[in-house]
Amino acid sequence: MGIVDEDVARVRESADIVQVVNGYTQLKRVGRQWTGRCPFHSEKTPSFSVNGERGVYYCFGCQASGDVITFVREIEHLDFVAAVEWLAAKQGIAVRYTDRSGDEGRKVRSRLLEAVEAAVQWYHQRLLDGRDAGAARRYVRERGLDGETVRRYRIGWAPEEWDALARAIRVPDDVLTEAGLGSVNRWGRQRDFFRARLLFPIFDPQGQAVAFGGRSLPGADGPKYRNTPETRLYAKSKILYGLNWSKEEVVRTNEVIVCEGYTDVIGFARAGLARAVATCGTALTDDHVQLLTRFARRVVLAFDPDAAGQAAAERFYEWERRHEIDVVVADLPVGTDPAELARTDPDRLRDVVERARPFLEFRVDRVLRGAALGTAEGRAKAAEAALAVIAEHPSSLVRDQYVMQVADRCQLDPDRLRPLAAPSRAGRAAPGSASRRPRPAPAVASVPSETELEALRLMVQRPEAMGPLLDPILFADELFLEALAALQRAGEDLHAAMESAGPDVVPLLQRVAVEDTESEPEDVAVLLLQAAARRTLVELEVEMRRADDPFAYTEAISWLKLQVDRLVPGIALDQEEADQLVRWLRRRAEERG
Ligand code: ZN
Repeated sequence: MGIVDEDVARVRESADIVQVVNGYTQLKRVGRQWTGRCPFHSEKTPSFSVNGERGVYYCFGCQASGDVITFVREIEHLDFVAAVEWLAAKQGIAVRYTDRSGDEGRKVRSRLLEAVEAAVQWYHQRLLDGRDAGAARRYVRERGLDGETVRRYRIGWAPEEWDALARAIRVPDDVLTEAGLGSVNRWGRQRDFFRARLLFPIFDPQGQAVAFGGRSLPGADGPKYRNTPETRLYAKSKILYGLNWSKEEVVRTNEVIVCEGYTDVIGFARAGLARAVATCGTALTDDHVQLLTRFARRVVLAFDPDAAGQAAAERFYEWERRHEIDVVVADLPVGTDPAELARTDPDRLRDVVERARPFLEFRVDRVLRGAALGTAEGRAKAAEAALAVIAEHPSSLVRDQYVMQVADRCQLDPDRLRPLAAPSRAGRAAPGSASRRPRPAPAVASVPSETELEALRLMVQRPEAMGPLLDPILFADELFLEALAALQRAGEDLHAAMESAGPDVVPLLQRVAVEDTESEPEDVAVLLLQAAARRTLVELEVEMRRADDPFAYTEAISWLKLQVDRLVPGIALDQEEADQLVRWLRRRAEERG
């Protein structure tokens, strides 16, 4: 369910970003900007900048950036719709929903929430004092969960009856079924969904009960775990058990521990690590990770991530790149789970979390640990296996460091190993990363990209003057080039540009929008043109040295040198000559492909 675009725009436009941010950090006016200490990272000197006119912010310290809606999302840990609602409420704006039954949907939702809450209370009470719950209470105690824990997590007991809950909470058939609490049989009688199970209520991040995870007692028939089916309230690929309790600690430590069981979450909290969440009978999904990035930047996996194989590895690396998080692995002793370790050896549990290592390090180590490094054959085999694992990592810089380690431990020449750690399939780079590929260009370092940045600032702040002077050929940095393209596509509308731009480009646009510039567009254009011409000159000289007929290049080179010398910032640009040079550069770039 979304909010209609028009209303989102209305909320964004009427919200005063300076006033909103001021509620969290004190802003002072500096020139055309407002600055203050960043509310997202701790700092002594202000590096957080807000542009009130354009409605955007950017932090030069931690690169947090966005518009007023992003700000509310990040600072209040809300999703997009909730952030818009939050702002709308402050301004007394009534928003409409894209789903025309949106308002109706909210009413249904709140009735379902009430029903689930009633069920939580009833099941919990049954565990505490039900005559039929003796075995369940004994089991809970044996697992080391005391009364206080049972109350805190509102653990419950579903009796072995057909309709005990349904008779107790007395809700209409549609509410019972849509809340996932039961069903109606063909004689029209209500039936409970859970029977003879220990129940762990699952809450949304705001603390509203939305579902249950049910565990059978040892020796009982049927599957060990059974969860509420997917409902309007509960999508297991999006909900994480425990986040409602742990989010404060997660934010405070900037770290979240991900495990697989309800009792693992509880165990972590009892061991003093109240920052764990669990997936509810599913693998960690992209939606989960997206949700977690609102709270923390470091994700500690407290389950065996290798069990999921290479596909999982690629997912983790992709998340690290796309969501800018670190994924590390807690190396739990084999054959134990966090819940058990929390009970038997909490110090050890704290220790493995503290010493959690990057996912790739964990995997390489596992390969080498199991290898016979005492013989030449053993070392060669181990190196091959380790390199296959390393090859999955998308970053060549990261790969290289691990290659060195493997070379060291297997006593092999790193130069021989490096090709073996190259990604096996060509062009398998993760989507999006292709756009960051450096251009096929000179062996020499490119221009100070500061000039390109300045051009972008002017493009946002004085588009009418800067726009006509810019040509994509003048940009060497692929990311800046994308930003320019987004701005050109969107005319003068910064927000439209941000909407059409890729995720890497958006923060850049926000940054240039809050940075003042006093430069003259024409000077910047001259510097860009000069730099572009110099880059080409270097390329030509390299080509000439390799050419069979070097003299074929001399004319072009001397002409280009002359052009570079003629371009002087501060001296009026001869537009015709500049255009000619741009055309020449463009043609050459096209010829080279
Ligand atoms: Zn910051």
